Amino acid sequence: MNTEIKNIKKDYLIIGNSAAGISAAESIRKNDKKASIAILTMEKYPNYSKPLITYYLAGKLDLDRINFKDRDFYKKNNIELCLEKKAVMLNPQERFVLTGDGSKYFYKKLLIACGAKPAIPPIKVRDENESVSSLDREIGKIRGAFTLTTLEDAVEIKKYINDYSIKSASILGGGLIGLKAAEAFLELGININVIELSEMLLSASFDKTASGIIEDRIKQAGSNIITGQTIEEIIINNGAVLGLKLTNGNKIKCSLLIVAAGVLPDDAIFKDTAIKTDKGIIVNEKMQTSIPDIYAAGDAVKSYDILSGQPKNLAIWPAAVRQGSVAGMNMSGRPAIYKGGFLMNSVEILGVPVISLGLSNAEINASPAEIKVYIVHDALKKIYRKILVRNDRIIGVILLGAIERAGIYYGLIYNSIDISELKDKVAREDFGIIQLPADYRKHLVVGEGIEV
Ligand SMILES: Cc1cc2nc3c(=O)[nH]c(=O)nc-3n(C[C@H](O)[C@H](O)[C@H](O)COP(=O)(O)OP(=O)(O)OC[C@H]3O[C@@H](n4cnc5c(N)ncnc54)[C@H](O)[C@@H]3O)c2cc1C
Repeated sequence: MNTEIKNIKKDYLIIGNSAAGISAAESIRKNDKKASIAILTMEKYPNYSKPLITYYLAGKLDLDRINFKDRDFYKKNNIELCLEKKAVMLNPQERFVLTGDGSKYFYKKLLIACGAKPAIPPIKVRDENESVSSLDREIGKIRGAFTLTTLEDAVEIKKYINDYSIKSASILGGGLIGLKAAEAFLELGININVIELSEMLLSASFDKTASGIIEDRIKQAGSNIITGQTIEEIIINNGAVLGLKLTNGNKIKCSLLIVAAGVLPDDAIFKDTAIKTDKGIIVNEKMQTSIPDIYAAGDAVKSYDILSGQPKNLAIWPAAVRQGSVAGMNMSGRPAIYKGGFLMNSVEILGVPVISLGLSNAEINASPAEIKVYIVHDALKKIYRKILVRNDRIIGVILLGAIERAGIYYGLIYNSIDISELKDKVAREDFGIIQLPADYRKHLVVGEGIEV
């Protein structure tokens, strides 16, 4: 680690070297060829695709194939990448960011793209010698208990699995990160217990049918799903996890626990500033915070869900990339607007791929008159396709087992296309470009004068 303490001056300073931060840096460089740009990251890896860390864990990708920008990206774009530089404090009056080693990075424009941190539920940690603590204090210290949001987490988990020849694991949380961990462990032949507080997996996006199909698949493979429960206590001995006590009193032996109970925007750096937050940094359409020369993008912000019309933290990679790009353009003087987005998930469990888009279970709390649901379900083939339509527009999709044309559905939702003429066809497996409204088909075709 570079421990030299300095005062550094940059035109553009970016906290975060991932989807949002790098996308912003690219936009800035496109518009401003000469300005100085620095990116701070508290991690030691140059850059990596977060959605791929569980593929690394599963042994499907090596460390040298997990990056999404080439090694020479920073040099080619004249961007200074500052690895292992943790921003610890922001001083907006004097316009600098203090890093853990005492250096001050002065900026003209700042982007906060520091992502989210793992949410740690209130769980007791009981040592066998009867001393009691809490998981938020102990996580990172207990051998065998991990979060999984960074490449370093995945590297440590992989090492732990190899060092201790782990054959079974428990995962707290059946959301996206929990299911991706499950996918990796099942690939490695590790039996799992998924412990999920709600009554179904991926409850933000799935419905009972989709969750049921995935649950059955996991159970058939000899693993376990426990819904409607959480962990009350983690039992440890000599600093290592030994077992779990659930809220129903059941006990589970455990030597590897993944805490995947969601993520929370990380506000540690700016909580004592005038930057307005509400479970995420509040930004306007330009991705500007309440302090004019400070922008924010990605998992750290509360952005806007175009389907619910509500402010929402859209903690997904494509939203972070788009928001970063819009922030970078505005920071470098080219007006751009982020109109909002919607949630998407993609995961594959034991050969069953699932994609969900938008308000994919909104019918649960709506009347049939408000939201129409079109379903194709083939239980034998494990195919389930559900399309939700409100006011003749698709607002949600679950594609399970047959995920073709997810991109078309994405476009129909994002562009709010009227699908009144093809409602009964929308869930079919052969649904494709040819059924789309003629005007929209033209919009999809690349190249002049091509008629479809
Ligand atoms: C296991 C997993 C699987 C996922 N799978 C998918 C998927 O399939 N599809 C999808 O769309 N999304 C997925 N996501 C979500 C997606 O990865 C995030 O939405 C995206 O990475 C957010 O990008 P970001 O740039 O806002 O922040 P992050 O990617 O979280 O990056 C934050 C950056 O800020 C740096 N940083 C943080 N704090 C500081 C500090 N104090 N000082 C200096 N640097 C700091 C970090 O080092 C990092 O470089 C997944 C996430 C995880 C964890």
